[in-house]
Amino acid sequence: MTTTIDLVSYEDALASYDPVMGLEVHVELGTNTKMFCGCSTALGAEPNTQTCPTCLGMPGALPVVNATGVESAIRIGLALNCEIAEWCRFARKNYFYPDMPKNFQTSQYDEPIAFNGYLDVQLEDGETFRVEIERAHMEEDTGKSLHVGGATGRIHGASHSLLDYNRAGIPLIEIVTKPITGAGERAPEVARAYVRELRELIRALGVSEARMEQGQMRCDVNLSLMPKGAERFGTRSETKNVNSLRSVERAARFEIQRHAAVLSSGGTIVQETRHFHEDTGSTTSGRVKEEAEDYRYFPEPDLVPVAPSREWVEEIRASLPELPLARRNRLREEWGVSGTDMQAILNAGALELIVQTIEAGADATSARKWWMGELARSANEAGVAPDRLAITPAQVARVSELVAKGELNDKLARQVIEGVLAGEGTPDEVVDRRGLKVVSDEGALGAAVDEAIAGNPGVADKIRGGKVAAAGALVGAVMKATRGQADAARVKELILEKLGVTEG
Ligand SMILES: [Zn+2]
Repeated sequence: MTTTIDLVSYEDALASYDPVMGLEVHVELGTNTKMFCGCSTALGAEPNTQTCPTCLGMPGALPVVNATGVESAIRIGLALNCEIAEWCRFARKNYFYPDMPKNFQTSQYDEPIAFNGYLDVQLEDGETFRVEIERAHMEEDTGKSLHVGGATGRIHGASHSLLDYNRAGIPLIEIVTKPITGAGERAPEVARAYVRELRELIRALGVSEARMEQGQMRCDVNLSLMPKGAERFGTRSETKNVNSLRSVERAARFEIQRHAAVLSSGGTIVQETRHFHEDTGSTTSGRVKEEAEDYRYFPEPDLVPVAPSREWVEEIRASLPELPLARRNRLREEWGVSGTDMQAILNAGALELIVQTIEAGADATSARKWWMGELARSANEAGVAPDRLAITPAQVARVSELVAKGELNDKLARQVIEGVLAGEGTPDEVVDRRGLKVVSDEGALGAAVDEAIAGNPGVADKIRGGKVAAAGALVGAVMKATRGQADAARVKELILEKLGVTEG
């Protein structure tokens, strides 16, 4: 079904309506085995080689809960400032779909393992926005369908479909926010910042790599509008399985404009699922949404309840690492940078690289300068993330060490970096091969200065007469004579010394 609608401009939409968002994020846990059986979760195996009677839903097969899965769920819950249930159960969510061989998904319904938390997220300008968490619950993934014979890979037009159950039963944590209100025009930015912060958190906890491009983390964006000043939420749409940060932001933005168009023309929003399309940045209608009662949830009779002892929960709490936002705030203070600078570092994908460069011996200012300057430009030009550049944090640290020692100046250091990136070897090898070293031999430098003074008598006179600013021309001449390999500050000192002038 193709529907073209005239969108309302974003500004006009926000002038009349307040957006309300709900974000549901599924994270595939990085456990070695599935949630209710011992099958491997490794990616890339031949289809249907990582299955057993339990995850294929054979009659009589009995599931067993994966303890690491439960521990990961508690870790996530605690990091999200949630309460952890003292006792909770799994539930069957009943529906038929070919990629789900049991005809129900083992999930949690009214008894989630974690509930009532929040996650503070940082916006582009460094402002903090608190997103309240409704719940985080455990469930299992479905298999995968592959539609064959059509042009698009979708079921429409396909001649037949294949099913791979390797993914069926992989542990998932679903994290659901409370309705996010009050974000106004920044709602799409909040959605993006939330998913990013959550991804950083999941990675820091070591429970999943949370690679969105591999489907290890996916986000459903629920959105509704209400007229400005109203208190009752409007009808929501659910844009399913959005799988990049940028797409999360675009999907929210598009839905705001689409809802506003429907509402302001007197129409009503249908509660339905929608699909986001990367190419156009738009969403199209999926299926009309089931209500919870359609799933006939009931407690899973084959699994014992999960009752984590308080001792265990406290042990897990004590083992949590420093969380990403706290760590960024600490680094921000240590490095003396602003909130927006820190956002820029994060956006550039340079945070860990700068940390590692500092750990390798560089000072914070130069580590930041190289990764956010020269190297960010190189990464940009090559169209890659900075961690894909052919230079290591330790090599960047070595370059800044050479600068600090006065063996390289900035200009030479840039050439060294250029050489390392071009595969000419380590910084020291590039220095040797290209002959890039600051001329620190005072004798050679002195001779070059004498020459410059002799070659520019008029300028020298001006300086003697007190026009210290004119020294720039002589410094330039010396730098040229030494092919840029002199320390400009030292050159200036020498010139003034030789002309018997003191600065200031
Ligand atoms: Zn299995």
